[in-house]
Amino acid sequence: MSTLANLPPLSRVIAAHGLSARKSLGQNFLLDLNLTARIARQAGDLSACDVLEIGPGPGGLTRGLLMEGARHVLAVEKDARCLPALQEIAEAAPGRLDVVHGDALEIDPLAHLTPPIRIVANLPYNVGTELLIRWLTPPDWPPFWQSLTLMFQREVAERIVAAPGSKAYGRLALLAQWRCDARIVMTLPPGAFTPPPKVSSAVVHLTALPAPRYPADPRVLERVVAMAFNQRRKMLRAALRGLAPDIEDRLLAAGIKPTDRAETVGLEQFCALARGLAEG
Ligand code: SAM
Repeated sequence: MSTLANLPPLSRVIAAHGLSARKSLGQNFLLDLNLTARIARQAGDLSACDVLEIGPGPGGLTRGLLMEGARHVLAVEKDARCLPALQEIAEAAPGRLDVVHGDALEIDPLAHLTPPIRIVANLPYNVGTELLIRWLTPPDWPPFWQSLTLMFQREVAERIVAAPGSKAYGRLALLAQWRCDARIVMTLPPGAFTPPPKVSSAVVHLTALPAPRYPADPRVLERVVAMAFNQRRKMLRAALRGLAPDIEDRLLAAGIKPTDRAETVGLEQFCALARGLAEG
């Protein structure tokens, strides 16, 4: 019987199961098991956690997570061609890996997971940002997960950790940093993947804070931030005009100059503005 340590190399798995990468599914595979183990380690001690992995593909990161001691992994994969390869990993780690065939945007993973839960994934670029925003914007906080350890295109990773005043600063930075600690923990060149993408990638680690950094109603804050950055070159008194007839006064009350642009305004001020608007 196979064990995790004597499963075949990933290049052989890919050849044996005919897993030629499909662009439409955002398939850029990691075949170096030292690298996938390093990514798994960025998620911390997983021995007492269930892990949700989106898009396991041929299972390089899945193997890393199991080898690094994850208690249990739930892997959600859209491409049916990958299922036999993932089944082989499940057999080599009895009772520790469940594979669900389906679209991560449609499936409710909670039915298959026991807290505490961490999410670790080399995300498909076409749904990565949408999944992140969903994980960051549940109605209640703390969320169902303790941490997210996610591979993105480097440019997206930089938008998650960006500070005010930088070009990358915007909605993603504010949503992430309002309720999480977020940092880039690894960067990877295109050559780390098969096939190599056009751009570099980075792993971001986000830890859910017990409570948001500043109070605000999530729906109001999301709306304010979306409007403010939708027209990021405009002064806020113009970009946010549709929110309230007296928007200039409300900006001033939140400590924001009405002539400021969204990219210079910090999280604390956006939260103050959202609170003011929620009061009516
Ligand atoms: N984790 C593997 C690795 O690191 O080698 C593969 C990563 S690859 C960037 C993204 C994976 O997500 C592919 O296996 C792809 O089939 C899968 N995928 C794409 N869209 C998906 C979706 N909506 N739901 C679940 N999996 C998806």
